[in-house]
Amino acid sequence: MSGSNVETDAVIPVTRPSMPDFDTYVEMIRPLWESRHLSNRGENVRALEEELEQRLHVPHVSLLTNGHLALETAIDVLGLTGEVITTPFTFASTTHALIRKQITPVFCDINPVDYTIDVNKIEALITERTTAILPVHVYGNVCDVEAIEQLAKRHGLRVLYDAAHAFGVRHDGRDVSTFGDLTMFSFHATKVFHTIEGGALTFRDARYVEAIHQAVNFGITGPESVESVGGNAKMNEFQAAMGRCNLPRIDADIEKRKRLVERYDTRLGNASFLRLNLRNERTESNYAYYPVLVTKGRAARDDMMAYLAQHGILARKYFYPLVTDFSCYAFDASVPNATYVSDRVITLPLYPDMTMEMVDRICDVILEGGNER
Ligand SMILES: *Cc1c(COP(=O)(O)O)cnc(C)c1O
Repeated sequence: MSGSNVETDAVIPVTRPSMPDFDTYVEMIRPLWESRHLSNRGENVRALEEELEQRLHVPHVSLLTNGHLALETAIDVLGLTGEVITTPFTFASTTHALIRKQITPVFCDINPVDYTIDVNKIEALITERTTAILPVHVYGNVCDVEAIEQLAKRHGLRVLYDAAHAFGVRHDGRDVSTFGDLTMFSFHATKVFHTIEGGALTFRDARYVEAIHQAVNFGITGPESVESVGGNAKMNEFQAAMGRCNLPRIDADIEKRKRLVERYDTRLGNASFLRLNLRNERTESNYAYYPVLVTKGRAARDDMMAYLAQHGILARKYFYPLVTDFSCYAFDASVPNATYVSDRVITLPLYPDMTMEMVDRICDVILEGGNER
């Protein structure tokens, strides 16, 4: 199968940022040489907040320098303390944010269907020290938002969603940005929508607007007043300008992702050694990732990863290891479903610039080599 065609034999990365036309970006940043207003809620930040509020149909969007600081800021603004119930099947950032804010993460297992937090196991973990639930819409799969809202109401808990994977995802027609007390988004270069680095908090309750403004700018409220001990998490104008160039392109990008995902589904749907990501009919996906489980187990998965790499296909074990197994932590959590998924998962290459031929090449390699694994 290995021809000499450089195009088809080139290494395929797991992801690749979507970029606007160079001249479009230059035009967007040109006024900054005149205004010299480079940060501190400049024109692009304010405009992008409004554009995102419209795109996501959410009353309030606050932009921050990255998604991780959006999580830490949200923890401050919500006044969380004690224990927070969260998922072990996530990126380091979710748990690190809690620990860095002196909060004890309490790990709830995931459900084996869509890999989000298992809502049937949350209640047993609530103690008098619990102040919030921090679930993750992992791969853009929407958590059981109704059950989480009911639990939170019943026990007087806050809900902070990590929606780093879920930009533009809708559930029963409602955007994920509108659930919970606050929802965090990451606009890192590798995410579906990006501002190079960047992040946001979205919410319905107007009282968070001022609290977030203070928290991201040292608690400064005026030329001679500092009212709280805030940090620095401001988005700058160059980031926001990139976002303003990318936002009009987002629907086309998601459509391209969708077509690639449908091709993967068609090609891999009958592979007995794989389990694909189930799609929920109530969810309008953003096709952010293409996770598959190599059902036989970790050795077979690691074999498959090595075999893909030999063929120039750079997949990723996303998420492995589990947060609870990080060497910086020694959490003794019993999370069998998360362990099962983490031991078997591979996310395959997926980004808007990818061609159908690339998907076919990846599927050819998997189907040719997969059965022996
Ligand atoms: C990317 C990501 C983050 C962190 O966002 P940054 O913008 O990179 O700081 C947090 N949680 C999850 C699930 C992520 O994928």
